[in-house]
Amino acid sequence: MKRSTTYAADGKYPPEVQQMMAETTRCLNCGKILSLLQRKDGRRNRGYCTLECYFAKPPKLAYAEKEYGAAAKEVILKMLNDGASVVATAERLGISKPRFYDWMRKMNIKKKVVWG
Ligand SMILES: [Zn+2]
Repeated sequence: MKRSTTYAADGKYPPEVQQMMAETTRCLNCGKILSLLQRKDGRRNRGYCTLECYFAKPPKLAYAEKEYGAAAKEVILKMLNDGASVVATAERLGISKPRFYDWMRKMNIKKKVVWG
């Protein structure tokens, strides 16, 4: 039986994320203006200028930024502070747990236990 909710592996995303990728004229990671010529075959322009940018900020994270109107770090902090687990947050953003931990390290997000 196949799960229909796994998007990341085969490049399928929820409709709202697909729409964002199709409509953006700038790279969703670095903001570089995407060449219109790349869109000729209807496939090249998937919202990013390079594959590096795609991995640096996957579509779901870009969408979460848009949705929250905040930078990636703030979005992640908000999700975690709202009580979501690291695993749940990573899943929601469509990234693997190791990559998410990597981001947390890069963004200098540390788990902090607050007593009382
Ligand atoms: Zn880029």
